[in-house]
Amino acid sequence: MSNEHAIGIDLGTTYSCLAYIDEEGDTVVEKNFEQEDTTPSVILFNENGEIIVGSPAKDMAIMYPMERVITAIKRQIGTDYEVDVDGDRYTPVTLSAAILRKMINDFNDNHGTDIKRAVITCPAYFGQTERDATKTAGKVAGLEDVTIINEPTAAAISFGFGAGAGEKKRVMVYDLGGGTFDVTILEIDGNSFTAVATDGERLLGGKDWDQALTKIIKQKLCEENGIDESELEDDDDVKQSLILDSETIKKRLSSAESTKGTLTVGGKKAVYTITRAEFEASTAPLVQTTLDIIDRALALKNFTIGDIDDIILVGGSSRMPQVKNGISEKYPDTNVRVFDPDQSIAKGAAIFSNAHNWAGAETAAAAHVPAEGEITVHNVLSKSFGIKAMYDDGKEMISNIIFRNEVLPIVSTKTYFPIDDGQTSIKVEIYENSASNNEDGKRIDLIDGYSVGEFEMDLPEGVTRSTPITVKFVATDEGILVSSADCMDQHTEYQLQNKLQMSDSEIRDSQGLMEKVSNAN
Ligand code: AMP
Repeated sequence: MSNEHAIGIDLGTTYSCLAYIDEEGDTVVEKNFEQEDTTPSVILFNENGEIIVGSPAKDMAIMYPMERVITAIKRQIGTDYEVDVDGDRYTPVTLSAAILRKMINDFNDNHGTDIKRAVITCPAYFGQTERDATKTAGKVAGLEDVTIINEPTAAAISFGFGAGAGEKKRVMVYDLGGGTFDVTILEIDGNSFTAVATDGERLLGGKDWDQALTKIIKQKLCEENGIDESELEDDDDVKQSLILDSETIKKRLSSAESTKGTLTVGGKKAVYTITRAEFEASTAPLVQTTLDIIDRALALKNFTIGDIDDIILVGGSSRMPQVKNGISEKYPDTNVRVFDPDQSIAKGAAIFSNAHNWAGAETAAAAHVPAEGEITVHNVLSKSFGIKAMYDDGKEMISNIIFRNEVLPIVSTKTYFPIDDGQTSIKVEIYENSASNNEDGKRIDLIDGYSVGEFEMDLPEGVTRSTPITVKFVATDEGILVSSADCMDQHTEYQLQNKLQMSDSEIRDSQGLMEKVSNAN
């Protein structure tokens, strides 16, 4: 390793975390300027033109108009969401970059350095657009070299790295965060980590438990204090406090069997008591949903729970006792461990960064032979891809060629035919979708996917309706899709472009905005 620090960053929906490898080779979570291990992914634009990130932003949020406070920007990554603040335009890329910049500033100030490369994690279900956007956010934040790995893979690295050569394990990473849930099955073989199946629910997380608790709190406030429900609905301050208090009370119930809370309603202080049993009863269906998704993930590879050596629970919400209890009750013979839930992803990313061949990163190609001790990771493709095709019944549908949940790299071809004799060209329209690799998934309705690119190919003279056209899809190790079509001696190749990709000059312009990110030192 060069003298660059090996840095891993978990850029989370609700909290983010930065870890590095210290001089002794230990993995350490860097405390931010506020002396916290994790930084709330909250951004606030104050009246002095500064961008405040983290706890100060979260704490002051209530005092600012909603449009000056940004939360959960990760949910918008890859979309064309935009906000205009004081005449400047911000996208999910620049807003994510602001969070990264704050963490990097804090690290640089603390260590007297200027880090230029890092491994940043993203959810397994992120498609290429979201991955590119995350990488670009790193560049806007001032990094020159960014590698993206999947969050569950990072957690598995943190859990399984150093097990030794020849050690084989199959683990399931159960990641219940603030806003998303996913389950990934990985095979660990020495230093090689291969994801073999992944499934999840994009809109399930701690926030849903918070909402369930808000309902209980309201009910208790009414029952125990004779408050009318309309008093709670009509008061914006009460509503805001309820949101914040629900998260605090939820966390308290992870260690206490029962807790009290207070809220000022109509100038009067109201007190309520909530037990863990009440909270668990009202949120049992949420836990059940996650158990169903575990079964779905197993079914993807025809596994049973007996094929899994360990279930590793990560993500802040897996701290709730009902999560581990629910899984252990359903699968009593499997090892279930809450594993460093807030930090394992950042730590795994730092370990990967340390054992990563940075020089070879840009050319990361099939020819690369891993050096001793180097970690190799293989992901599954996160989305299925196919082309628009006309079927015999005259219906235009998506004909899928490569499928999500297959281990990368993938090469697959399918044969099509011209619609007419003497046809002079074809248009190959590529669609991304979430179909599974089964009979139903081979051919799906156009509305169940969305168009991500297209190319045209001239056909040789004299083609007939029975001249084969071979369409080939190659998904590289990094999930980049290259497609080509062949018809007789005619060959056309096309690499999927990312419509939201920023140019170098746009990246430089956006770097200017990072000057506004408040730096306490
Ligand atoms: P993550 O996205 O992994 O950072 O997880 C954040 C989520 O974990 C938020 O919804 C938090 O409220 C939740 N969380 C953190 N600590 C606890 C705890 N002790 N008990 C319950 N939930 C927690």
